[in-house]
Amino acid sequence: MPHETRSADDYDMLLKVVLIGDSGVGKTNCLSRFTRQEFAQASKPTIGVEFATRALTVDEDLVKIQIWDTAGQERYRAITNAYYRGAVGALVVYDVTRSPTFESIPRWLTELREHASSDMVVMLVGNKTDLTDQREVSVQQGQALAEQEGLMFIETSAADGSNVEAAFTRVAGQIHSAVRKRRL
Ligand code: GDP
Repeated sequence: MPHETRSADDYDMLLKVVLIGDSGVGKTNCLSRFTRQEFAQASKPTIGVEFATRALTVDEDLVKIQIWDTAGQERYRAITNAYYRGAVGALVVYDVTRSPTFESIPRWLTELREHASSDMVVMLVGNKTDLTDQREVSVQQGQALAEQEGLMFIETSAADGSNVEAAFTRVAGQIHSAVRKRRL
């Protein structure tokens, strides 16, 4: 079926992707920046987690990404198993203007590895690049950590929109090709 005649409920692949990282790094804003589109649907379940979805075309497949946001639960270290269950991708976000949020990344990776499958696609995301004069974490520091931990890496700004689209589409592309390879 040509993609333009499909509805958002008619897709080839549904991918659950989770957002993690310290409070205030910009997870919710990255999510809304990416999903505030024609196909966006938002949900606010009472358990305190939110997710939003967006459909993307990847290699001629219509891929629906369901992105989960912690909705502030990280403040209480109360992220549950259900949050990670079934996730095939993760964006681990820090704020380039606040070093402590970067220093927390290893803790987030440990939590992720405890709960998630080992073949999950993980991207390290340094957000708030628009605040150039407040930068505390360099691009090189981000890159070095990503390399050391075997993660994809990108810097974004949810405020001016730069690279937010690229962050999610690269993760979706990587997952899509991994799933395809397993199928073949
Ligand atoms: P979360 O707690 O990780 O979900 O973070 P939020 O998305 O709620 O953002 C926390 C604060 O940072 C809010 O005041 C946002 O307006 C601000 N913020 C988020 N992303 C950016 C960004 O890219 N640039 C700037 N300048 N502010 C941002």
